[in-house]
Formats: sequence, C-alpha cells, structure tokens
Amino acid sequence: MDLPEGVRRLWGLLDQRAPTYLVGGCLRDSLLGVAAKDFDLATALLPEQVMEAAAGLHVVPTGIRYGTVTVHTPTPVEVTTLRADGRYSDRRHPDQVAFTSRVEDDLARRDFTVNAMALGYDGSLADPFGGQRDLRARVIRAVGDPAERFLEDPLRIWRAVRFLSQLEDRTGRAWRLEAATAGAITRYRAETCEVSEERVRDELLKLLTCGSLAGLVAAVESRLLFIAIPELAALAGFQQRHPHHDSDVLVHTLRVVGEVEATATLRLAALLHDVAKPECVLWLDGVTHFYGHDRLGAKMAEGILRRLRLPGEVVDRVVALVAHHMFPWTEAGPKGYRRLLGEMGAEGLRELVALHVADVRGSRAATARWALPAEVAAMVEGVLAEPAEVMRLAVNGHDVMAAFGLGPGPEVGRLLAEAQEWVWEDPARNEREAILEHLRPLLAEGGRP
Ligand code: ATP
Ligand code: MG
Repeated sequence: MDLPEGVRRLWGLLDQRAPTYLVGGCLRDSLLGVAAKDFDLATALLPEQVMEAAAGLHVVPTGIRYGTVTVHTPTPVEVTTLRADGRYSDRRHPDQVAFTSRVEDDLARRDFTVNAMALGYDGSLADPFGGQRDLRARVIRAVGDPAERFLEDPLRIWRAVRFLSQLEDRTGRAWRLEAATAGAITRYRAETCEVSEERVRDELLKLLTCGSLAGLVAAVESRLLFIAIPELAALAGFQQRHPHHDSDVLVHTLRVVGEVEATATLRLAALLHDVAKPECVLWLDGVTHFYGHDRLGAKMAEGILRRLRLPGEVVDRVVALVAHHMFPWTEAGPKGYRRLLGEMGAEGLRELVALHVADVRGSRAATARWALPAEVAAMVEGVLAEPAEVMRLAVNGHDVMAAFGLGPGPEVGRLLAEAQEWVWEDPARNEREAILEHLRPLLAEGGRP
C-alpha cells in the first residue's frame, strides 16, 4: 500500500504496543486503487497510550472523549481507540463509549460496508460485512439494518448519497445504492431535520462539488433534497410552456447544475437560479412567463443559503448570480458589463457568463437566440481586460461636495451614481474635470451652480 512514510512509521510504532489497523476512507480508497485523502488508524491502545507512544510528534487531542487524537506525522492521522458504541439518544454522539479490543465491534458501528473494513499491520484484512464484495460491485450498503443505522445518526442518509457522487468521481464508474439502503433513505429522509444545519451543509457542499450528479439525482428521487431545501419541491413537475424550454423546471435545473463547473458558488447558483419560477408564473396566450423570478429568486436564495449556514461571502456571490441570471447580454453592451463588474467583481462576472451559457445549454437545444454570441463574449473579455484603475471613479464625495458647495447628504450619493453611470458608458470620460462638468447641469435646485 502506498502510504506516506510518516503514516507508516506511526502505524508500526503503535502496532508494536497493541494491534492497530488502517480503517475508513483511506483503506476503501486504496483498495479502489485511488489516492487516499486522509488517514485513520484504529487501535487497541487507549488515547493516553497513543499520546505517550507518539511523544515527540505533534499530537492534538481532537476528540479525547470519543478516543480520538490527531498525530501530525507531518501528514495528519486520526488515531481512534477501538470502540463499540452504545445507544445514540442525541442522534449524533453515542451515550457511552465502550473501548474494546475487538476490531469487529468497531467496524459494526461504521456507516457503510465499504467503510467498514480494517487492515492489520501484518497485511490481514478484516471485512466482516462484505466491504470488498460491495467495492467490486460498486454498491453503497448500510452496515446492518439501514433503518436502525439511519435513525442512530440521520447524517448517514446524506453521506450515502454523497458517496454515490464522490466514489463515481474517484473510480470513473457509476455506483448504486443497495435496495434496502435506498428504501430507508426515502423512508427516513425527514429525520435529517434533526441534524445540525452545519453538518448538512458540509455534506451538501461535498455532494454539489462532485463532477458526478448521481448523488444529487438520488437526493431528488428520494426527496431528501426537499427536506434541506423545501423551496425546490415546487419545481418538480412544474411545466414550462415556452419555446425556450422542453422540460419541467426541476429537470432544467439539474441540467444546468450539470453544465456549470463544480465549484460551490456556481453549483449553488445553478441549483437555485429558477427557484422562484413557480411563484412568478404568468400565462399569456398559452405561454408561461416568469417576470421577476430573478429578483424574487435572489431573495429566496438568500434565505435558503443563510438557513443552511453558508459563509456570508458565498451567500453574497450566489445571490448576485441568481439576481442577474436574466441579464440581457446581447442588448446590454460594455456599459452593462462594467456595471456588473463594479457590482460582482471579475470573478463574479465570469461566473455569471458561465451560468448563462449553462442555462442556455440546459434549455431546449434549438434555442440559439439566448446563447452568448462570439462578439458579446469578446466585448465581455474586453471589459474584463480594462485596468482596474481606469474603472475606479476619478471623483469621490469630497470632490463633489467641494466643487458644488454641498454638505453630506443624499444629493452627493445621487451625483456620484450619475457620474458612475456616465463613466461606465465610456471609461475615457473618467477624469475629474470632465466628470464635474458633466454633473454641473444636473445639480438639484439649491445646489450652487
Ligand atoms: P472522505 O473520503 O470524505 O474522508 P471517509 O469515509 O474517510 O470519506 P470520514 O468522514 O473521514 O469519511 O470518516 C472516516 C470513517 O469513519 C468512515 O469511513 C466511516 O467508517 C466512519 N464514519 C464517519 N462518519 C460516520 C457516521 N456518521 N456514522 C458511522 N460511521 C462513520
Ligand atoms: Mg476521511
């Protein structure tokens, strides 16, 4: 097995004192022949004995109550004392942690068979639940009774669908849910309400930033997704009668998610871009229109993302993308692109272009009218290439107040906004004197000429 030298040394060091096993995702991934991400060891040593054995290395008692210490080898390794969990009354932490020396007991409390194997330092593999069989068949199967395991910790429901996408990405082949496990996901999906928003958020982000959409599709099919984001439920089966569209809003949404790059902001924006369509629908001459679904959608997206405890900067970026996803690229011209650039920054503007292209691709194929013509793309690139200093307005509030004898107040803001619009039309106008000359005739009554 291909382990970092420090990890192997620590493993040997611990195993000299008591049986120590490589477990969890790193074992699963290396049996799959893909690079492991993080390393977990399970040991019969008690946490204090691990700390003693690893003296001289940087050791952090990350979860001492549950028997976990992190050793920096320098690669961080989580070393956890073998344990057999008791009952879970808070749905997250077992009531008692009973340390054990039997590796099978420790494997029995793990979530899925492919995650419930242990490799001994001597090379022997403990696989009591058929993990290798399921790796070969590419199946996610709960250890033991899926209903029981999901009720113990409903986060496992999200982990199951997340692994569908992640393991497809890592192996390049499709995975599936074992039937009883899939059934229990649908049946117990509402139990995920008991899980903290932060834990659900982390799973949702891992799921959305995969290349594969398999997990997201499973979350839709089981309606698990609608427990986390009930607002999306109204998109399912919501028909659009419009020459641009040939699918319901949810199918269109999933297509757009699949078309954008798998970054958190783009994937979230794609997932939420049409969330307000059902609320905004208007029938005119047998055709559906959705006036204002971009603005209402931005508001709804903000509520959803805050509720899911996403960081403020992610919320702001996604909300701006949803708000502007109907931007009229062809009509707007450079002035419009500069305004977007001022509001969203270069990264945001690029993301908005990407979202637009994905939105078109995810619609009826024959609709070329909304695509991004080459000359528009070139104009956007031109604006992105303009030096930032040119775009910074050459006057500020003090200049405006001094030039026109104004005190602080809304009039100053109004004039600056006017100046900004004028300069966005043509950056060559961005000179102090020219701007003040332009503003002079626009002074409100009472301002000094
Ligand atoms: P990743 O590649 O995302 O790190 P992983 O399988 O390593 O996947 P971790 O969250 O790092 O996942 O957990 C390590 C191991 O701990 C898992 O493989 C599994 O055996 C066990 N585990 C983690 N979370 C749970 C849980 N909620 N319930 C049961 N077992 C769990
Ligand atoms: Mg891991």
